Amino acid sequence: MFTGNALALIFQKTEGHCHFCGDPLILKKYGCKNINDLNGAWEADHVIQRAKGGKKEADNCLPACVYCNRLRWNRKGDNLREVLLLGLIAKDQMKKSSPIGKTLTGLMMKRLTSNERRRRKPLSVQN
Ligand SMILES: [Zn+2]
Repeated sequence: MFTGNALALIFQKTEGHCHFCGDPLILKKYGCKNINDLNGAWEADHVIQRAKGGKKEADNCLPACVYCNRLRWNRKGDNLREVLLLGLIAKDQMKKSSPIGKTLTGLMMKRLTSNERRRRKPLSVQN
């Protein structure tokens, strides 16, 4: 857990924007877990992941919106770039409504529904 000063320091590194997508963040929405109010919500992304030996201090952290941080998860460079490349290929196929694009659209909707259902369970216990 970070102190208010450490959070402000992390937040200011990108002038309050997600370091992945560039969307604006709201300082007071750090750690917000209300899935109905995630716009502007952010987390401290460990540039070198903790599992890979990265420090938990502010100097190893950048602000990331909740959406991007959860998509990155523990992926490192090569794996993250592969996911992005596959995403571009998939997006292109979906835009063309090719047979594989239609399948991907269906799989994406299924995944989003599954994620939402999974995330609602523990959160409803907290609220
Ligand atoms: Zn983002």
